[in-house]
Amino acid sequence: MQTTQFIWFDGKIIPWDQAQVHVLTHALHYGSAVFEGIRAYACVDGSSAVFRLEDHCRRMLNSAKVMRMEIPYDVDALVAACIETLKVNNLGAGYVRPLSFVGYGEMGVYPGDNPVQTIIAVWPWGAYLGAEALEKGIRVKTSSFARMHVNTLMSKTKSAGNYVNSILAKIEAKEDGYDEALMLDVNGYVSEATGENVFIVRDGIIKTTPWTSILGGITRDSVMTLARDLGYTVEEQQFTRDEFYIADEAFFTGTAAEITPIRELDHRQIGAGHAGSVTKHLQREFFKAVQGDNPKYAGWLHHYTVRQ
Ligand SMILES: *Cc1c(COP(=O)(O)O)cnc(C)c1O
Repeated sequence: MQTTQFIWFDGKIIPWDQAQVHVLTHALHYGSAVFEGIRAYACVDGSSAVFRLEDHCRRMLNSAKVMRMEIPYDVDALVAACIETLKVNNLGAGYVRPLSFVGYGEMGVYPGDNPVQTIIAVWPWGAYLGAEALEKGIRVKTSSFARMHVNTLMSKTKSAGNYVNSILAKIEAKEDGYDEALMLDVNGYVSEATGENVFIVRDGIIKTTPWTSILGGITRDSVMTLARDLGYTVEEQQFTRDEFYIADEAFFTGTAAEITPIRELDHRQIGAGHAGSVTKHLQREFFKAVQGDNPKYAGWLHHYTVRQ
């Protein structure tokens, strides 16, 4: 991976290589951590902007609330820390990864008085599933692993422990020669991918899975808003894998994956087998919004500047 110089660690800026923890850190053993994935983009006016930074920081605090972790920072403090980390690394576009974790102390499952520590790292990161994927679309396999039942793990938290399910599905999909896994919920309905939400388009109507067993993606929310503003009908509704097979278009959304078209699911070609017209329309509008090229969505951007 491409590193940067500094990491924010509990309020201090320290060198990248010195951002270390003890091997008996609670989160390392039990997955007791919450995190965010945020992107900063270079804007058309020459500045940089973090996309929906406040919303991401709010979601991180909500994840911590559900997990009973006390993060000693409010939204404003987290926002300021993310911006500070980008600026100190002089990074005008890239990925921002805040993480709060239960630290070193008692080794039992009960986190007790173990400290909750917070780090923020930033690094350059291009298209998550490859630049070609954004254009041509990816090949997807329905996973043999189900997404967690809503009372097994808390799907509305972006937490480290939830990702064990994602890792299992991702390894299976990659080793079987696919780019990504589509996971079904325990009732057999389409849920989401390993770190992306999912949309299908049929007869001009856009459908995404309801906010039940899924993480409520900020990209998902942005795409729903953009689509409705463009006059599309957007439904949050359960659907099955065979409805997916006969969709005209399908795509994944996520901060890392942005809007990635799906060209094949389980050897069924989706639509024409490449990015469809609705998908391309939404991609275009999404990239305009994140790069500050549509004043209507200026409120989604937190601008900052780096040294030239
Ligand atoms: C982060 C994540 C997403 C995408 O959310 P964004 O806010 O759009 O980045 C989707 N599903 C899961 C499981 C995630 O962890």
